[in-house]
Amino acid sequence: MSQAAQAFVTLATNDLYAKGALVLGTSLRDHKTTRNLVILITPQVSNNMRCALERIFDEVLLVDVLDSKDSAHLAMIKRPELGVTFTKLHCWALTQYSKCIFMDADTLVLCNIDELFEREELSAAPDPGWPDCFNTGVFVYRPSVETYHELLRSSTENGSFDGGDQGLLNSFFSSWPTADINKHLPFIYNLSSVAIYSYLPAFKQYGADAKVVHFLGNIKPWNCSYDTKTKCVTRTVHDSAPVVHSEFVSMWWDIYSTSILPMLMEHGISKSISPVKQEEEKLSEAVSQLSVSPPVPTAPMISSEERRRNWEQGQADFMGVDSFQNIQKKLDTYLN
Ligand code: UDP
Ligand code: MN
Repeated sequence: MSQAAQAFVTLATNDLYAKGALVLGTSLRDHKTTRNLVILITPQVSNNMRCALERIFDEVLLVDVLDSKDSAHLAMIKRPELGVTFTKLHCWALTQYSKCIFMDADTLVLCNIDELFEREELSAAPDPGWPDCFNTGVFVYRPSVETYHELLRSSTENGSFDGGDQGLLNSFFSSWPTADINKHLPFIYNLSSVAIYSYLPAFKQYGADAKVVHFLGNIKPWNCSYDTKTKCVTRTVHDSAPVVHSEFVSMWWDIYSTSILPMLMEHGISKSISPVKQEEEKLSEAVSQLSVSPPVPTAPMISSEERRRNWEQGQADFMGVDSFQNIQKKLDTYLN
């Protein structure tokens, strides 16, 4: 079988997930994959972002959004946004390829994983939350028009027990847990951060062998805040709590800040290091404007210069002079 007929496939329905896809694609290229890189995008992805994606991916394919609109099941996993993951099903329609590996846009490869193409449909790693289910962040599959239509039929007839693609695919490939151990990918091909907290000794024993990291869950690297000098990652600009085991998020940011960001700036997509950082700049601008006016009554006596310096160093006095209440009061005086 020709290697050109095989591909890594990912999905992005908006510009944020597209950033993840760019880092994933770059990590696959950096580790010298010999296979094609394909991304499915939906119309919500901006034109400039499409141009950036075309520089990393061999094929950037526009598809329709498929949405489970199953808010009841999605509420159970507290992820209302995951209905659109049904869009993943389009990957079975890529019949120009004989075999593919689907990877979520929130995954990162740490070494060459081309050996996965030796596996058969449907191969995947166990889900850390319910190991008799496979996690759909990384899976090996065979594009096929018949399977594609059967999956679409199953989605309308049976829905999905979790409202997302994972519930649907686990019901569809229901023999996965017991039928063939070769279809169980080792966990190191889909190491999720959740597993690091839930079984730390195992992570210490086996984590060094990880081949793919999956930033599963609410905290995605692109929503974190990163300091390029200290390489320190925090959850957001407003929540300076450090991200537990942030080494992988740091690796993601290393690729993002050195390879992706300069390209996005060239395409006029990003002006600054991250959307979060841009927000920080806006806030800091607002505060520097506030500091030229007389201090609000509750403010302790520090000079506006000093206050501005503290703010710029990330040491805003959130409990005192820079409290939300004070800022809001100030904004209200301006607006009135
Ligand atoms: N996805 C997307 N837009 C969304 C949500 C999800 O493009 O708004 C795609 C993306 O490829 C993502 C995958 O669907 O990696 C699965 O979603 P996510 O990774 O957020 O789910 P988790 O792995 O956290 O369960
Ligand atoms: Mn994911």
